[in-house]
Amino acid sequence: MTNFFNPPLYLQRYQFVIEFIKRNKPKKMVDLGCNDCALLRKVKFHREIELLAGVDIDSAVIREKMYALAPIPTDYLQPGDHPLTIELYQGSVTEKDHRIKGFDLVTSIELIEHLQLGDLDRFSEVVFGFMVPAAVIISTPNAEFNPLLPGLTGFRHYDHKFEWTRAEFQRWALQVGREFGYEVEFTGVGEAPGQDQTVGFCSQIGVFWRISPVSQSHEPEGPLLYKLLYSVKYPSLCDNNVLQRILVNEVLYWSENLKRRWLEETAEREEDTYSDQNTEEEEEDMEGRLAERERLYRSGRSVCVPVARLWSCPRVESLSGNISFLKQILLNDSRVSMTEDGLAVVLAEAEDEDHQDLDYSDAPECTDIRQSVVCTVEEDWGA
Ligand code: SAM
Repeated sequence: MTNFFNPPLYLQRYQFVIEFIKRNKPKKMVDLGCNDCALLRKVKFHREIELLAGVDIDSAVIREKMYALAPIPTDYLQPGDHPLTIELYQGSVTEKDHRIKGFDLVTSIELIEHLQLGDLDRFSEVVFGFMVPAAVIISTPNAEFNPLLPGLTGFRHYDHKFEWTRAEFQRWALQVGREFGYEVEFTGVGEAPGQDQTVGFCSQIGVFWRISPVSQSHEPEGPLLYKLLYSVKYPSLCDNNVLQRILVNEVLYWSENLKRRWLEETAEREEDTYSDQNTEEEEEDMEGRLAERERLYRSGRSVCVPVARLWSCPRVESLSGNISFLKQILLNDSRVSMTEDGLAVVLAEAEDEDHQDLDYSDAPECTDIRQSVVCTVEEDWGA
């Protein structure tokens, strides 16, 4: 079946989940039967998700690639606006552990057909009766499609306990919906080639929406039956320390840039003055268009960059929200020197002196790197 679909069927299933997330913006999602976390690795790029969890009965398969869910340098350079926590558990979907309650979205992709029918009942009770998420996506093979798959005899996988026709899946799903207060939409991915649309999709999908309100549970939490294998918190701008670090980095980067440009222009102007070529008009063009309080100035061997000027730099305004917050952050950060009145950032004029205090000599390159890494990351959405 590997080359039968383009893109491969498993990627079509993941893409279905990703499209659902883009439309419905759940904040908390758990993937049951997460295997090597391939779906979670794609979903984590959806920046509105704040809690992402995976559960699988097989701890070895989770461990295989779980560290690929760790933050990468870009996540520290450009933290998201929202917090993100990822948790991976070894456990069975037939057992209740309160740590998997409270999710908006539960996904179960090609999992139920691996369960004995008795366990399937327990799965329904766990997912719909205990976890009670707002939405559940369940995918499973559509047996009616099997005759189209070249060389297939029997089930699609040796571990499958059943493979259902569309009618069988729909009967089960509608029954579960009635019992637990969910309505179901049926769809799928993996279309039959040519005109043969009568067999339905290769993977059938039920999207369950909760229609009855969740009643407050007064039950004790019960034992922790799952084993937490991995947990990681991503840096985010909601964390004040992270916000301060990113904002100060941004301020130092732009201060350096402005200083360098200002020194070059000042040197040119001085040269022109010596050669008597400068006109009043040209001088007006350079800094003249800025208000007095935004102009850079020299103080001894230092250059002062007014906070009012930094305010107009990309990201500084959006990160700080208001100018008094920006001043407060800068005054309290040991990496920044400020004038006594707190109105300007003070930088050493000479490059050598700067290098002792600030590691911003390569700032423009740093911006390029950030952009290229971000592009790579965004591209993963389309995979
Ligand atoms: N959802 C993944 C995907 O679509 O790529 C993996 C699907 S794989 C066919 C089925 C997964 O379900 C396996 O990783 C298996 O270990 C897991 N599984 C089987 N029985 C389970 C159970 N009772 N509780 C949790 N996971 C289970």
